[in-house]
Amino acid sequence: MKLISLVVPIYNEQQTVRGFVERIDEVWPDIAAAMEEGAELEILFVNDGSKDLSCEVIRNLKSRQGAIRLVSLSRNFGKEAALSAGMHHCKGDIVVPIDVDLQDPPEVIVEMVQRWKEGAKVVNGRRADRSDDGWFKRLSARAFYSLFERLADHPVHRDVGDFRLMDRDAVNVINQLSEQSRFNKGLFSWIGFKVDTVEYKRPERSAGETKWRLRKLWSLAVDGITSTTTLPLRVWTYLGATIALGAFLYAAFVIGYTLLQGRDVPGFASIMVAVLFLGGLQLLSLGLIGEYLGRVSVQVRGRPLFIVESVEEIDDGT
Ligand code: UDP
Ligand code: MG
Repeated sequence: MKLISLVVPIYNEQQTVRGFVERIDEVWPDIAAAMEEGAELEILFVNDGSKDLSCEVIRNLKSRQGAIRLVSLSRNFGKEAALSAGMHHCKGDIVVPIDVDLQDPPEVIVEMVQRWKEGAKVVNGRRADRSDDGWFKRLSARAFYSLFERLADHPVHRDVGDFRLMDRDAVNVINQLSEQSRFNKGLFSWIGFKVDTVEYKRPERSAGETKWRLRKLWSLAVDGITSTTTLPLRVWTYLGATIALGAFLYAAFVIGYTLLQGRDVPGFASIMVAVLFLGGLQLLSLGLIGEYLGRVSVQVRGRPLFIVESVEEIDDGT
């Protein structure tokens, strides 16, 4: 028997938790059937510092199908941190982070489980269309992904949220990563393993309202870029080198022109040359510092150099 853990971050969700458990209870038989040899269910709520009655509501919940556990964080740390806490505490052989507002339809897990049985260690849920997001969120997501794809060393999968199925192997690797500013999507594309994708249509929130504010989305985007690439630090080398080269050429021209033609405005040549020379030099040295800082930040993240998926004895030679 395999244990399936649903990891559910909760921030002021007193209106939605009950409906969530009811829906899971309904869908569970299908998920268990997909597992063939049967499966056990664990619903792990992570209370991310809710200020409403979410905890009380959760403590009074009963599931007909499996165990309910609650991990409470000391304050609101944000969804990404709540998911990390959940992934550390869940016991499942299969782990599925899922939103409590039923925007990640539990039926999709059935198909995810099938892909897992076909050998995928990570099965991403991909939103087939974002038509029910507001125009602003759609546009900003589009802009973010296209910028990200250009910058990142390991592009994330487009329109993939936190809703995914993970094998215990993948969870263990993710739990090992100790970096502070976590951008889960980026980490999942970084760890590798066999990945599959299931498409689904994202419904409206079951009740309550979204907890994402512009400020949080923005800092998530910044985290995403700075934790996956050091390119923004290093571009200054190239920009600086280009400007410095231009400046040197122009300086040579100004000097030559002044020597041959005499001066138009007294002091123009010397000031121009000094400004351009110093400006180019400064950008170049900023870029140089960026190169080192980039290496420092990669080192500080302390990700493992590699991840071994399996070691096999093929033939013992006898
Ligand atoms: N959430 C959380 N901490 C936060 C914000 C959100 O744990 O600081 C949880 C929230 O309770 C929900 C999930 O993250 O289960 C998704 O949040 P929401 O539905 O507000 O985001 P959206 O679906 O609009 O992206
Ligand atoms: Mg939602």
